[in-house]
Amino acid sequence: MKTKFWLVLTSLTIATVSYFYLSLPEKEKNVENIQVASTPIPEPTLLYGFPIDSFGVIKGRVKWNQFLAEILEEHNISGQALYELSKASKKVYDVRKLKAGAEYVIIHDRDSLKTARQFIFEPSLTEYVVYNFQDSIYAQVNQKPVEIVERTLAVEINSSMYEAILEQNSSPILVNRLVDVFAWQVDFFRIAKGDKLKVVFEEQLVDGEISDIGEIKAAYFEHIGKEYYAIPYAHKDKIDFFDEEGNSLRKTFLRAPLNFKRISSRYSPRRFHPVQRRYKAHLGTDYAAATGTPIRTVGDGVVLEARYHGGNGNYVKIKHNSNYTTQYLHMSKIARGIRPGVKVKQGATIGYVGQTGLANGPHLCFRFWKNGRQVDALKVDLPSSEGIDTASLETFKLHADSVRERLDLIKFPEPEPLLAYIKYPLPTVD
Ligand SMILES: [Zn+2]
Repeated sequence: MKTKFWLVLTSLTIATVSYFYLSLPEKEKNVENIQVASTPIPEPTLLYGFPIDSFGVIKGRVKWNQFLAEILEEHNISGQALYELSKASKKVYDVRKLKAGAEYVIIHDRDSLKTARQFIFEPSLTEYVVYNFQDSIYAQVNQKPVEIVERTLAVEINSSMYEAILEQNSSPILVNRLVDVFAWQVDFFRIAKGDKLKVVFEEQLVDGEISDIGEIKAAYFEHIGKEYYAIPYAHKDKIDFFDEEGNSLRKTFLRAPLNFKRISSRYSPRRFHPVQRRYKAHLGTDYAAATGTPIRTVGDGVVLEARYHGGNGNYVKIKHNSNYTTQYLHMSKIARGIRPGVKVKQGATIGYVGQTGLANGPHLCFRFWKNGRQVDALKVDLPSSEGIDTASLETFKLHADSVRERLDLIKFPEPEPLLAYIKYPLPTVD
């Protein structure tokens, strides 16, 4: 009986020990691992994809008024070879086009003439051109690899968004993109001290330098104490920005600034002027209407000008945001309270139809600027201001919540402590 007990115990122990032994990692088993010795093959050194270990490399900089022929004749490349290169690559690249100051690389044979194998030149940050003289003569434009990095930025703006973003080592391209996103919410000419910005975005890097800004994944702007979220969402085949409720961040303009009888003259770079009786550009839309008809601002904005001046007569000019400005001419009267600096809401009456200035009948001449250039108000491609439709709203809100949560978790950097010296009174000795 006793023997049997010991037998069972011993086999149990053996089983347990071997179980643990087998589950040990290799090196703890104290087994010698025999490795097959191999000579490692050295990696070839590559420059722009060309092996250079058995060739010479010369780096240079294009001098002012220096020609390709001049650089390459010192490397045994004849005028005939350059002519062939130019012919072979006509459709790809104008090989004679060198930029003074630009860097180039020559990979050459280690012969006495240092015969060029390749001439490589970078016309821009994102591409390099190879002129090949080895085997066959050709030129090839290559794109450099682009690295996409997601970045998060949280800044308190003290002077301008431009400065704040550049201080964080990002690009002016990001500034432009954000001005576009928040054009209707934030007056970038009136950034208040303490305005805050958070943004999650993609930076595209080439050789460690920013070549472009990719997707803006989330953005937040605190402007004069008001908070704005910008949530990107693919809606009707394009990505646009919405607030947390699904409203478009863009606003639209009124179709017309007044109730009019007819359009008496359209925007045209050249038309016969009825008063001056000569051909000249008409950079506005004329709406014929009875004297005294109220004229409304087509969008929210700030009055830039409101006065009488020459051919314009009584006129009002309104800036809507960083991109859009409108102007209303020939008013019989400017509405009360409309003067430079005054804020107006879309649809507010700013004046009344008349025929002051150069006009032969009561009408409103309406002018429209987009990004500083006069455009045809009837044809301008205005951004969509449609919100998310009811069918997609629930899905959108789930997405918006996660984007908001992500933005809220981003903390602003602590302000740097002010350096202060505390003077302790010296102990007095009696
Ligand atoms: Zn006109």
